[in-house]
Amino acid sequence: MNPIGAIDPARCMKCGFCMSVCPVYIHDRVETHVARGRNMLIKMVAENRLPRDNAYRASLTYCLLCRRCESVCPAGLLPAEITIHARHDVVKKSRPSLLRRLVHRAMVGNRAVIAQLIGMASVLPGVSVKNGKPMRHLAEAASILSGNLSLPSGALRSFARPIPRHARPAAGVAVKGRIAIFPGCVFEFFMAEIARDMITALARAGFEVYFPQGLSCCGHAVYSDGEFKTARLMAERNIRVLSNFDRVVTGCATCGSALKGYAGWFEKNDPMHGLAADLARRSVDFTQLLHAADFKPPEPAGIGRSVTYHDPCHMRWHQGISESPRRLLQSISGISYREMEGADACCGLGGAFGLTHRQIGLRLLDEKMTAIRRSGAQTVVTACPGCLLHLKAGARRHHLPVQVLHISRLMAGPNP
Ligand code: SF4
Ligand code: SF4
Repeated sequence: MNPIGAIDPARCMKCGFCMSVCPVYIHDRVETHVARGRNMLIKMVAENRLPRDNAYRASLTYCLLCRRCESVCPAGLLPAEITIHARHDVVKKSRPSLLRRLVHRAMVGNRAVIAQLIGMASVLPGVSVKNGKPMRHLAEAASILSGNLSLPSGALRSFARPIPRHARPAAGVAVKGRIAIFPGCVFEFFMAEIARDMITALARAGFEVYFPQGLSCCGHAVYSDGEFKTARLMAERNIRVLSNFDRVVTGCATCGSALKGYAGWFEKNDPMHGLAADLARRSVDFTQLLHAADFKPPEPAGIGRSVTYHDPCHMRWHQGISESPRRLLQSISGISYREMEGADACCGLGGAFGLTHRQIGLRLLDEKMTAIRRSGAQTVVTACPGCLLHLKAGARRHHLPVQVLHISRLMAGPNP
């Protein structure tokens, strides 16, 4: 089907198959919170039979954009993309709030501003540092504001240990390729140790790794909000910076989904469309590349030996990746892999959804925690910074004694 047809809500067959899998609808049973009902609303608004009122706008927020429903839709629709385009339609017709414009344009669109603000916050005496040691004030404040979601202890210290710009395989190891790492905002600014683990594993696997200068945010959150203009600026910048690398690797499921999807952000007759399609061909998830390179992860230290894996929606449903992380984990000597029930079910975060619709998000998180508990695993591994933070919050909420780790921690080996 052509892409226009896939985002035409009028093509919805009203079969309701999406209702059997939609995490939001399964919980609240509200017809306008699932693809079938929302498609009808969007169609009626496009035909001027309904206003773009508050109820309509609210219904557009009740989607995790998980893309789970695409896998069962007999009409081949892309309901999440239909919702995003409807949000864009609202954005076009109403001037966004000053705060929203500030966040999207000045903050997210300008990486130097983020870096400067975080850099200042990371060294504020009495706020984030006391006697040279990190304090938890900012993280705890964020935790209260966000319903128990918080950055890990010492996150701001990541800024003081930046990601290396270049790494080579050890002497004598055949170089398999020259690759760029795309860490994404969270791994660059708050969890740089994850990016460092990725680089360690990739160099060990034989890749020469570069962390290019001048990257932007991947733009996924901005695009998902319907702010296409800003999102395209971000994509354009990344496409240009990454143009000279054989492969572009990310360990962030959300960034991976964006990098592979940029072509859909531009009109076919836009010169950026072809460049974006080329970037998609060169973009690969960290686990895919390691698995394809037949990487043998080192035996881990300080990690619970029974391990389970949570599929981020942006990996499983956006990119169709589920095998490579499992195969890598199962190949680790001394690890007992345990599949949890519903490993591919959303953790409930879904970007801003988990904050704006916290009750639904928490119910999904509670189910995930029950599945983890039942698996008996000591360690939960995932491949998305959002899932990582949400699962950690879930473990705290349920007093579940599990480690929650990004998969790169198990690929890099013991900490240096
Ligand atoms: S599964 Fe597809 S065609 Fe069927 S109701 Fe849902 S969106 Fe419409
Ligand atoms: S994308 Fe996810 S949350 Fe949105 S309608 Fe589809 S299944 Fe439901």
